[in-house]
Amino acid sequence: MARKFFVGGNWKCNGTSEEVKKIVSTLNQAEVPSEDVVEVVVSPPFVFLPLVKSVLRSDFHVAAQNCWVRKGGAFTGEVSAEMLVNLSIPWVILGHSERRALLNESNDFVGDKVAYALSQGLKVIACVGETLEQRESGSTVAVVAEQTKAIAEKISNWDNVVLAYEPVWAIGTGKVATPAQAQEHISTCFHYVYFTVGRALQNLSIAVVHAELRKWLKDNVSAEVAASTRIIYGGSVNGANCKELAAQPDVDGFLVGGASLKPEFIDIIKSAT
Ligand code: PGA
Repeated sequence: MARKFFVGGNWKCNGTSEEVKKIVSTLNQAEVPSEDVVEVVVSPPFVFLPLVKSVLRSDFHVAAQNCWVRKGGAFTGEVSAEMLVNLSIPWVILGHSERRALLNESNDFVGDKVAYALSQGLKVIACVGETLEQRESGSTVAVVAEQTKAIAEKISNWDNVVLAYEPVWAIGTGKVATPAQAQEHISTCFHYVYFTVGRALQNLSIAVVHAELRKWLKDNVSAEVAASTRIIYGGSVNGANCKELAAQPDVDGFLVGGASLKPEFIDIIKSAT
């Protein structure tokens, strides 16, 4: 099954209503490939969701950046999946590393959130990714597999899930394991390999991790889910590196933070073709 390229813009906790309107106006004027080629979803902070939804072009969609783990009620400060559905917000980002790290969201909690959001009819961008420490200790694949497992155990249908691989060390840092870097490391690895095989694991390129995630889905969910689920990459994607990243095997799109607030987001959308 062909996987449609997906570009998400995660605006995080940024913007005033004036700034938000300006970003939307830039997006609305942009000439980008059609909806048949690329699915574009922007994720403003909760308070701006209705505003953005009301002014955004109809071929782009909106996502919330979080939602509560179960039915709403006495949970001060939370926003429920039901409320998002009520406002016709189609998507939600769950398991972002900033929430995992700063708000202690565990794998289990993220799995529960994904399951509940799906049960209410939302589509989910589910994020996984390793820290620098985990990468350096050679546990990247084990970490993302564990995070994916915590989701897979709680859901039975992946049709409305996009899996976002976002290495924590790459978010907002300008660092990306580009093919060029990966290539560089291959020769380095030849030297290392005599000393310790584990060392080479540090240098896993994005394509390798995406392939491992797809293999995990194939082995643990099904061949169909592995073939149809979009695995997108996030972490310092920008107008300059998007083409090269989009050309990587198994990279079905991006989740973009900082650059999604700038006009270069349009170049990132265009990297779909
Ligand atoms: P970044 O963030 O593009 O600013 O690195 C990506 C993300 O956190 O989704």
